[in-house]
Order: sequence, then structure tokens, then C-alpha cells
Amino acid sequence: MKYFNADLHIHSPHSIGVSKSLNLDTMIDTCKKKGLNILGTGDVLQPEWLKYLEQKLEKSKDRAYIYKDINFILQSEIEDQESIHEVVFFEDFNMVRTIQKKLEPYSSNILGEWGGRPRVNLTPAELVDIISDEGALIGPAHAFTPFKAIFRQNRFETLSDCYQDATKNIYFIELGLSANTYLADRLECLRDVTFLSNSDAHSQGPRSLGREFNRFDIDNPSFEEIVLAIRRKDNRKISLNVGLHPKLGKYYNMFCNKCRRRILFKKAMKSFNDVFSQYSITENFIFIYTNNPDMAKQDYISQVNKGKVICPSCKKELSKNYKIKLGVSERIDLISTSEKPIHPNHRPSYINAIPLIDIIRSEKHITSKTSKTVLNTYNNIIEKLGSEFEILIDTPINNIKKFNENIASIIKAMRNDEIKYTPGGGGTYGEINLEI
Ligand SMILES: [Zn+2]
Ligand SMILES: [Zn+2]
Repeated sequence: MKYFNADLHIHSPHSIGVSKSLNLDTMIDTCKKKGLNILGTGDVLQPEWLKYLEQKLEKSKDRAYIYKDINFILQSEIEDQESIHEVVFFEDFNMVRTIQKKLEPYSSNILGEWGGRPRVNLTPAELVDIISDEGALIGPAHAFTPFKAIFRQNRFETLSDCYQDATKNIYFIELGLSANTYLADRLECLRDVTFLSNSDAHSQGPRSLGREFNRFDIDNPSFEEIVLAIRRKDNRKISLNVGLHPKLGKYYNMFCNKCRRRILFKKAMKSFNDVFSQYSITENFIFIYTNNPDMAKQDYISQVNKGKVICPSCKKELSKNYKIKLGVSERIDLISTSEKPIHPNHRPSYINAIPLIDIIRSEKHITSKTSKTVLNTYNNIIEKLGSEFEILIDTPINNIKKFNENIASIIKAMRNDEIKYTPGGGGTYGEINLEI
């Protein structure tokens, strides 16, 4: 058995908001720096991208798709009638074309230029049936995000609520950037499914591609072996999930649907009677002051869930009332079946990671996300010490110290889970606070 680092959910320039320079060549460049061995192709149902992939990908002797020594799994994301996103993996191009043909009558955009993530007019269960009848594998994408996800506010609370009889064919869920194993294992209905941690990358840049990945223990990087690992058969398995600390994700914290400010609770210095009336508004946050933030927050969350809380900032300016929406953490608080995670025996460990580029940015106090100085340091450290994943997870701290003492101490704190985070929400990523 060998191990392969795999990021199995990405997109192509045929999905909205994806970098035009994303292609197989630019992706494999990042794969090598990061230490990724297997990538999802993204958007394989879109006709032009499909044609491009058919021209470029070859089959290796172990029946895995390969391009310049990086392996690929044919992959797409589909949106169903309930506006739930699902990740799908296909064995080969024939299977892609068969499923494309079967979905075509239910989709107005599957063959279009922007059909990278096609929408189909089928219930979640109907879609799962079509996909699994053909031997492809399907499961919910970014399962807890407030938009386009199975467990979003006012939607489903368990897998079987959503997929009904077809639940038996759901072998995985994708955690999404704002959740991890510790959060997701608070839901009893997820005990038997495998967790995938994928990047959902919209660009080939090293902050995006591979920011989440799975370590597969398999014989070779073929579809067959990936399926065995996800189904945990014949000793194949995922031995490690690595992903952003959930607070770094874009949807961890609750937020206003209009101004996108995040709601945070703070302990008040004096006593108040009305717990939610004391607040302050900044550019990105609304701070609510109460005597007992934990209790008040629980009460607030249940009111938000009922759609009863109006944004204190937006209510002044607009005639329409804008509501607060739950983030991933609060939604999990509400639908969880236990307060603490209960990990099944098969669950691999999860490492809360920070992209190396962001560690370098904080160390240098550079806010720009495209800084040349940061990129040069990134390339330099990788040249000296090995791939990004080795540096983040395995390289002895003393070796990193020889390169840069501060970067070494941030990585050490990250490994020991001692970093403080400002939680992301409403589409804005969280950030690391370096007063450690
Ligand atoms: Zn999605
Ligand atoms: Zn607002």
C-alpha cells in the first residue's frame, strides 16, 4: 500500500468566478510545490473542458488517468432541484458521456459554455439514483455552508431526510472549508460515511488549490482504488484529512445576509436587562454585549434560525428588513445530536492547517494576496525544505528554524493548535491573529 495526497474537488474556467489561467499545466505546477499526487479534474461534464481533458489525459498501466506525472480523477459538481451541490466521481470518459446524456433532458445548461457546474431539475434522491446506477460515486459538497448545501438553514438535518431510499448509495460527504471532523462528528447520521476534505479551488494558486486534501492509503491512483478507500474496503482507506482551520473558512460565523457583517458576542462590563440591545457596529463586525455571552448566543441562534433576527446595521438604512443567517458553526450547534464529537473507529485524524502562503504573509505583515515578496519566500522555503505539505505536517521544527525562526514558531503553534483566529463568515475568509 502506498499513500497519495488527493484534492478531489476543483473547477474549470467554465464555472463562474474561476481564474482564466487555470488549466492542467498551471495546476500541476502547484501540485508539485504542495506535494499533491491526485487531483479532481473539475467540471468534466462541460463539453469543451471534457474535450480538453480527453486530449490531454492518458491512462497509465494501473488504469489511472495521468498528465505529466500527476494523476487525475474525472470529477464534477452538480446542483440539484433543492439547490444542493453534489460532488461526483466518474470511472472513465464513457461513463461521463453516458451520464451527461441521461442528465441532459433535466438541465438547461449542462452543454452550455458556463455549464461547469450544471443544474439539474431532479430531486437529490433521483440524481443519486441516476449517478450510482452507472457506477459513479456521489455525495454532498461543502455539506454545512449556508448556501447550496444539504445542511443549510431551514433545509435538511440528516442524510436520510434528504436522500431517502438513495441514502444507501451515499458513501461520503465533503466537509467544506468551514467545518472539520470535530464539528461534523457531532451528527449521528454521519457516523458511517467517509469525510472528504477538498479545496473546491477556483484558481491554481497555492492559497487555493490543495488548501484541503485527503491522504489515501491505496495501491494505485485509479478510480477503482479511490472508491474502495471511500467505501473503506479491502484495507483501502483515507488515513488523514487535512484542511483549513474551520474559523479560516468563509462561512464559519453567522452574518447579515445583506451587509455581510459577522455577529460576535462579547462580555459586557456592566449589567443589561435586554440582552440583545447593546451592540457596536464596525466595518466587518457587529459586536453584541451581554453578561453571559455563551447563554445569550444560544438564545440568539435559535431566534436567527426562526428567521426572526433583523440586522441592526441594515434596519436603519433600508426599508426592507435584512435577516441574520447562521454560519456553519451555529448550524451544527443546532442540528447536532451531541455536544462533543463522537468519532467512529474508522475516522482518520484531521489536521487543522493554514496555507503556507498565509503563514508567510502574517510573518511579514503583508496583507496583499499576490505579493511578490511572499511568493519568493514561498518558492525559496520549498526549494530548501521540501513540499508545502511536508513543511506544514512533518518537517522537524528545528529544520524550519534554520530557514526562518518566526515561520517555524507559527508552524509549531499551528501543529499544537495554539493559534488564535478571527472567524470568517458571510463570504469573508477568517484570519490568523499572531499574538501567541
Ligand atoms: Zn459548490
Ligand atoms: Zn446588515
